[in-house]
Amino acid sequence: AKYTWVDKDTCIACGACGATAPDIFDYDDEGLAEVIYQSDANRGVTEIEEGLYDDLQDACDGCPTDSIKIADEPFNKEG
Ligand code: SF4
Repeated sequence: AKYTWVDKDTCIACGACGATAPDIFDYDDEGLAEVIYQSDANRGVTEIEEGLYDDLQDACDGCPTDSIKIADEPFNKEG
């Protein structure tokens, strides 16, 4: 299983991840990325479906600030 979460403290609102993986990432009012997949609300608790693994990895690889975190276990962040 894979889970993902965006560290907004380091995100620079470049807009890359939402273009690469629009089913997983969108932006808040400040343009900072967050996980919107299945109402995850950037908590990193929603299991990403396998069909999106390539998009997820591409977005992670393309993030200039390494703000996209991926793990095999839920993050349990608070948004
Ligand atoms: Fe933020 Fe990284 Fe997404 Fe750019 S690619 S918006 S820096 S999380």
